[in-house]
Amino acid sequence: MKMKDKVCIITGAAGGIGYGIAKRYVEEGAKVAIADIKAEAADKAAADLTAIGPGEAFGVTMDVTSEDAVNAGVKAVMDKWGRVDVLVSNAGVQIVHKIEDFPFDAWKKMLAIHLDGAFLTTKACMPIMKAQKGGAIIYMGSVHSKEASPLKSAYVTAKHGLLGLARVVAKEGGQFGVRSNVICPGFVKTPLVEKQIPEQAKELNISEEEVVSKVMLGQTVDTEFTTIEDVAEVALMFAGFETNALTGQSVVVSHGWFMQ
Ligand code: NAD
Repeated sequence: MKMKDKVCIITGAAGGIGYGIAKRYVEEGAKVAIADIKAEAADKAAADLTAIGPGEAFGVTMDVTSEDAVNAGVKAVMDKWGRVDVLVSNAGVQIVHKIEDFPFDAWKKMLAIHLDGAFLTTKACMPIMKAQKGGAIIYMGSVHSKEASPLKSAYVTAKHGLLGLARVVAKEGGQFGVRSNVICPGFVKTPLVEKQIPEQAKELNISEEEVVSKVMLGQTVDTEFTTIEDVAEVALMFAGFETNALTGQSVVVSHGWFMQ
């Protein structure tokens, strides 16, 4: 088991991609904190994963935009398991509008969840990982960390920003064995994407089928959604890659949508 007894914190893990990564880690023997703003859903996800085993999970209520909530959540993990080996900063939302229609509050909310969340969880975990002389910090970027799409100004800005944060973490963490990486998925069919299909159809004045076949999957090699399992496998690889060789790097997981 590649992750036996590794202590992991995954934000936004009550559902979607975060849950898929938690499941993959638990299958490999990890101890996973399901950190999510949805308290009941986090507890349920943790109970479900513990039942699957062989690792275990517990739910931590955490709004990643609140420094107090992040610090309390990380403390709860330290009190329970005494270390943090892997942080997956994954919590995220999507809001689509043309720039001229983008409410400023919505812009600030997007940047807070994606960037403040990544910063605050990193800030809380770095000293623990440095003291342990090792750890992995994985950010959930997107193809939109490298590519732009209309209507997604705040999302594209935030996802590009994560690349910069990851590179600084790599430089500050290197001598302590603290590595950082960014995973950049294409479209994965989770509630975050399901919500966008009718929204984009309305904004772009095209059918929902066209949003999927042209806007979302038109540039993939196989017109396939990226799967949660695809992303979880890459998250497992980064969590277990124990030298600095890959630190600071991002990898695109997109069925050929974006190649570099
Ligand atoms: P999702 O909506 O299925 O899950 C997101 C989770 O984040 C939810 O459980 C939600 O409760 C939680 N969350 C939201 N705000 C939070 C907050 N303030 N504090 C803590 N938790 C919070 O979304 P998903 O598709 O699984 O997305 C997960 C990550 O993957 C996001 O960062 C997203 O940008 C990224 N991503 C998704 C796709 C995709 O196509 N689905 C593609 C590329 C990147």
